[in-house]
Amino acid sequence: MVRISRVISEIEDKLTDLRENLKAVKDWVRYLEEENQNLRRELSACSVRLEQLGQDGMGKANLEQEQQNLRKLYEEGFHICPYNFGHWRTQDCLFCLGFLKNTLERQEQSVSGNE
Ligand SMILES: [Zn+2]
Repeated sequence: MVRISRVISEIEDKLTDLRENLKAVKDWVRYLEEENQNLRRELSACSVRLEQLGQDGMGKANLEQEQQNLRKLYEEGFHICPYNFGHWRTQDCLFCLGFLKNTLERQEQSVSGNE
């Protein structure tokens, strides 16, 4: 009887540990979800600014910087295309590559338009 009650006590301790670990994991997931939302908002704002700069044909240096930022994000493994914006990429994405190519062309048009 003593042995059974000891086993039950150990199981209760393990369940308590598991519950605490689960709570920590849930907190961490909540934090990451918030961080992810913030990053998506930032990426989205970055894309809108790039779009505006491209349309206005102004701020050559800014446009170059935005283009570099997008390329960097893409190389770090994020989608920058409108279809999957801010999501993780597991392989090359033709939409992202097309988007990068278009922003580069707009940048070049902006440069030749200003001369
Ligand atoms: Zn993409």
